[in-house]
Amino acid sequence: MGRIVLKGVRKAFGDVEVIPPLDLEIEDGEFVVFVGPSGCGKSTLLRLIAGLEDVSSGDIEIDERNVSTVSPAKRGLAMVFQSYALYPHMSVRKNIAFPLRMSKMDKAEQDKRIAHAASILNLTDYLERRPGQLSGGQRQRVAIGRAIVREPAAFLFDEPLSNLDAALRHGMRVEIGELHKDLATTMIYVTHDQIEAMTMADKIVVLRAGYIEQVGSPLELYHKPRNLFVAGFIGSPT
Ligand code: ADP
Ligand code: MG
Repeated sequence: MGRIVLKGVRKAFGDVEVIPPLDLEIEDGEFVVFVGPSGCGKSTLLRLIAGLEDVSSGDIEIDERNVSTVSPAKRGLAMVFQSYALYPHMSVRKNIAFPLRMSKMDKAEQDKRIAHAASILNLTDYLERRPGQLSGGQRQRVAIGRAIVREPAAFLFDEPLSNLDAALRHGMRVEIGELHKDLATTMIYVTHDQIEAMTMADKIVVLRAGYIEQVGSPLELYHKPRNLFVAGFIGSPT
């Protein structure tokens, strides 16, 4: 399960309205990319869905449940932070297990989930190492592993590859795509990178100054951009 519906979601910081009232439906299992220029509200929108920011008005529903005032830990979502959010003094195993230890999950169930995540992410041989002994791509996979073990209704990624070099970015793009196929879980992926949006998304949400300029598949946006802004950002120049 992982159907996410935003109804009139609005966010203001003080007097500044960063997200005007916005509606959006994300289907279970969809890979949705939020794309748009820096400062257009991508991170804010993701943080509202995650519960790291409170909506100023409107409602967020996850699988028919209104979660607008539910704490982040109880929304059943997993936010994947950039690789530097790992604990340097803990082993890979402990980093991945961290959310499960916090929830006091049964040890045998923890081990089962860690083994499963490690095998999906090719980290089985690295579980006893520290993050500092891993490559950038492996560290990114540990951050993803920490999300997988929680078996979330959806994964939320905020520019997870922006710290990686070009070659690694390409590899991680492919890996996240494969992960989405393996898990068939909803993923919301924020980027300002058109190539990431075009190659990864089932559905692209083009944001501009906090509102949705256009929603569609990569092909729809490429061939039928609504205006020059979308064309300039995604589509063929028309
Ligand atoms: P993006 O992720 O697309 O670059 P953000 O969501 O980070 O954009 O920011 C959108 C706008 O909201 C920006 O103008 C930013 O300055 C503003 N903003 C974000 N967080 C805060 C905050 N905590 N307080 C005040 N303004 C904020
Ligand atoms: Mg951002």
